[in-house]
Amino acid sequence: MQNHHDSTDERLILDSVDKFLAQEVAPVAWQLEHDDTYPIEIVERMKEMGLFGCLIDPQYGGLGLSTSTYVKIIEHMSRVWMSISGIINSHLIMAVCVQKFGTQAQKDEFLPRFATGELRGGIALTEPDCGTDLQAVRTLAKKVDDHYIINGNKMWVSNGIEGNCFALLVKTDPKAEPRHRGMSLFLAQKGPGFEVSRKLEKLGYKGIDSAELVFQDYRVSADHLIGGAEGRGLQMILGGLELGRINVAARGVGLAQAALDESVKYAQIRKTFGKPIAEHQAIQLKLGDMATRTEAARLLTHKAAESFDRGERCDMEAGMAKLFATEAALENSMQAMRIHGGYGYSKEYLVERLYRDAPLLVIGEGTNELQRIIIAKQLIERNPA
Ligand SMILES: Cc1cc2nc3c(=O)[nH]c(=O)nc-3n(C[C@H](O)[C@H](O)[C@H](O)COP(=O)(O)OP(=O)(O)OC[C@H]3O[C@@H](n4cnc5c(N)ncnc54)[C@H](O)[C@@H]3O)c2cc1C
Repeated sequence: MQNHHDSTDERLILDSVDKFLAQEVAPVAWQLEHDDTYPIEIVERMKEMGLFGCLIDPQYGGLGLSTSTYVKIIEHMSRVWMSISGIINSHLIMAVCVQKFGTQAQKDEFLPRFATGELRGGIALTEPDCGTDLQAVRTLAKKVDDHYIINGNKMWVSNGIEGNCFALLVKTDPKAEPRHRGMSLFLAQKGPGFEVSRKLEKLGYKGIDSAELVFQDYRVSADHLIGGAEGRGLQMILGGLELGRINVAARGVGLAQAALDESVKYAQIRKTFGKPIAEHQAIQLKLGDMATRTEAARLLTHKAAESFDRGERCDMEAGMAKLFATEAALENSMQAMRIHGGYGYSKEYLVERLYRDAPLLVIGEGTNELQRIIIAKQLIERNPA
């Protein structure tokens, strides 16, 4: 339960985020997005505002915000330009893994630098041959004295070009059964043997870099094995992904809300058959469904964030929020395009971008097919016959 102090803090931070979004992001988002240009100045301002450390404990220089406040920040960002939420999402998943599972020395070394954004990056899990089935990763780390030598390829790594440090999922024992016992998570900073092989071109989610990374005899100190013990990498990253899924759900809420806002505005301006289209019942039915979907998505997302804040296992709650909110974003972006008629298909209107951004949400951070499977497995585990 939030106390008065927390809600005042939350209002202050959301006010300053809203001001930043209105003054510094909204006016430039269209151009940067259409040119697929990395938003350098926006990222610098996000650093100054402390957003790279918003979930990091104040003792390490972070803002120490709750996940419940964080999801509101992400929702507000995504209403304006979803790409900028991705700049801190996977960075914070990495930071939270260190905060939860790292050794004291790792917390002292990395968290203050993550909080300022001096070290920033994300998570390198997916490979050219596997994404959903993470236990099939082939990137291999071999221990040699006090360090490891890593070889392998990672695919679709957000912040891969601009970032400089990544939580890297590898096999330390490729023969282990079950396979996850042979998996470990490293903090990998860019250096010799760690190359960006290419930038990946995308339908939407532009401005933010997605890259393929190649590790060739990359050498990392054994001190940078998160938690200091092999075999716990998958478990750690799955815990981090609960946060990632809540973030993606919040992006879905923001995108669904933006599609609704644009539609409510346009439906009152555009006239057909002598009246604003908002007065045609066919349009009203769409608006009613869009608004209800958005609100339901928001409630599920807040519920999952509260559960995460209480430290509970919340893969089912995060999965439900991610599934529902991202499908809401996809559906609302389509309905917004229909409401806008031909203009919805024009690059001059925001709904065209929303329509290109929404599909990523049903795929990234665990596909929605996988979310349904997670929900069903938890249902069965929590309700034994
Ligand atoms: C823009 C973008 C950014 C990304 N950022 C990152 C990042 O920063 N770091 C990172 O590591 N990854 C990232 N990813 C990768 C993303 O997480 C994966 O694409 C996603 O997890 C799906 O994996 P895949 O593409 O290998 O699909 P696959 O696993 O090959 O799945 C293909 C299809 O099969 C379905 N499927 C798979 N297994 C099952 C099953 N058991 N039952 C039913 N259906 C199943 C899937 O749902 C999907 O429909 C990003 C992807 C994109 C597009």
